[in-house]
Amino acid sequence: MALILIVEDEHDMAALIKRQVEGEGHTALVANDGLAALMLAAQARPDLVILDWMLPGLDGLSVCRKLRERSAVPILMLTARAEETDRVLGLEIGADDYLTKPFSLREFMARVRAILRRVELMRHAEQASEGPVRLPRLTIDPLDRRVEVDGSQVDLTVKEYELLLILARHPGRSFSRAYLLDKVWSDDSEGGDLSVDTHIVRLRRKLGEVGGQIATVWRVGYRFES
Ligand code: CA
Repeated sequence: MALILIVEDEHDMAALIKRQVEGEGHTALVANDGLAALMLAAQARPDLVILDWMLPGLDGLSVCRKLRERSAVPILMLTARAEETDRVLGLEIGADDYLTKPFSLREFMARVRAILRRVELMRHAEQASEGPVRLPRLTIDPLDRRVEVDGSQVDLTVKEYELLLILARHPGRSFSRAYLLDKVWSDDSEGGDLSVDTHIVRLRRKLGEVGGQIATVWRVGYRFES
């Protein structure tokens, strides 16, 4: 399940794409112009951006460049003219893939799946590392489940610890409540979106100032700010 940002000013097109990706179990956010796209991308940190070239105001190319300045999020560009695609994929713009309009939904979903598969493979490789987490003020040693803030040990419950480990192992990445629920409460029937929120509140309190780095991501869930 991925978080996908759709940037398209044509409402019918945006709705169509949204339905497609949601039909495969992903979560979709829609931005109707470039500025809204940059704001949503910064806030929600999507796993994939589907970006139309033709946008009012800030066009897709400028949005793509600005996204690239800040992150390595995969970008699937929707273009109107095939002859410009060399620029789109080149270093100049830096999109990961493109589709020329009009395209079939089948082709579209094949591209989306291919990009998400690459992302998933990279994540598995990252998550395979089970070593300690060392951030400027926070260290977590999974061997003895020891958490230290500024060198002092903090006592956490098992659920609080597991939530923190997921978030802090991937600073800057947004995790949905559903994902956290699934990972942390998988073997336990008492879970619920509310219990994620309740545990985050307690976790923030126990971590003091460092707890402030656990940011709420609007409409999504939580993220550990680096
Ligand atoms: Ca458009």
